[in-house]
Amino acid sequence: MEENGRGETLCKVCGDKASGKHYGVPSCDGCRGFFKRSIRRNLDYVCKENGRCIVDVSRRNQCQACRFTKCLQVNMKRDGTFYRPLRDIDSLYSQL
Ligand SMILES: [Zn+2]
Ligand SMILES: [Zn+2]
Repeated sequence: MEENGRGETLCKVCGDKASGKHYGVPSCDGCRGFFKRSIRRNLDYVCKENGRCIVDVSRRNQCQACRFTKCLQVNMKRDGTFYRPLRDIDSLYSQL
């Protein structure tokens, strides 16, 4: 976990206080969860403002398309599992 010595690393997506490094990028729990949901469900968001929305703490929930774009811009990575997290495979096995 990267911090500045005061525990005040900021989320690179929305600027909220980061809870740690997620997907390779300091980010808050909100953006981490959002990114995780997005890649797990392979969601395709559409922006109503041509991708020009501002993503910050107060507006991050207003446009999922721009929030997801911002996640990618700050270099969040999909854990190398490409849309199929291990947990999904585990649950498949448990059903057999
Ligand atoms: Zn955030
Ligand atoms: Zn937008």
